[in-house]
Amino acid sequence: MTAEQKKYVAAFLDITGDYLRNGYKTPREALSFMDDGAAPPAPPAGDSLEAVVRDIAACAACRLAQTRNKSVPGEGAERPLVAVVGEAPGAQEDDWGAPFVGQAGQLLDRMLGAINLSRRRNCFILNVVKCRPPANRDPLPEEAAACEPFLSRQINLLQPRVILCVGRVPAQTLLKSAVGIGKLRGRFFLYAGIPLLPTFHPSALLRDQSLKRPAWEDLKILRDKLMELDGAYALETRESYAL
Ligand code: URA
Repeated sequence: MTAEQKKYVAAFLDITGDYLRNGYKTPREALSFMDDGAAPPAPPAGDSLEAVVRDIAACAACRLAQTRNKSVPGEGAERPLVAVVGEAPGAQEDDWGAPFVGQAGQLLDRMLGAINLSRRRNCFILNVVKCRPPANRDPLPEEAAACEPFLSRQINLLQPRVILCVGRVPAQTLLKSAVGIGKLRGRFFLYAGIPLLPTFHPSALLRDQSLKRPAWEDLKILRDKLMELDGAYALETRESYAL
């Protein structure tokens, strides 16, 4: 289907949905679509996600390489709507070689699911630091700096519509800021020209229930931004969540 045809179908579904739900037309921004089969922006020549995974596995640029069990490059959809950036692998992630597999990961999956996102379908989950810091301490600045080229290659290859930083460490690292997460969260910044939204880390929500409401506000901001940027997501989300 062409982008133009998708626009007509979307307008039709919108009007029908409005009529069935409340009998009047809700004013909305026009949605943007791509032609089926249209080539996504070309990834940088000579690089690939597989090459980044290989380079991470071979990396010994900082001391975390000596204590890691498995490196954790990240996982998810190759052309994601959202790149979710966390801090660093914990014990379970170090065992599995996959990001966010523990309790915080289960909460992260539920948070994403609440706005029609998932790591299999439309998100890629990665961390600032790819190897586990001992005793789950914060990554040191030099460890984050050693890993930074991997993160920027991944973002460059993934070209997500939005980056969601979960927690202080990814937000401060990507934004090169010392401002706390309580101040950074809930508004958009830019990283390499891509909108970046900081929010709380799911582990913080597990520790402090009072952060759940502001985190939900942030997720709604993310959902609205994605609906503005991606017509297919907007349509699917409106239908599934009766917005
Ligand atoms: N916390 C993170 O920030 N990343 C993980 O992969 C797991 C827990």
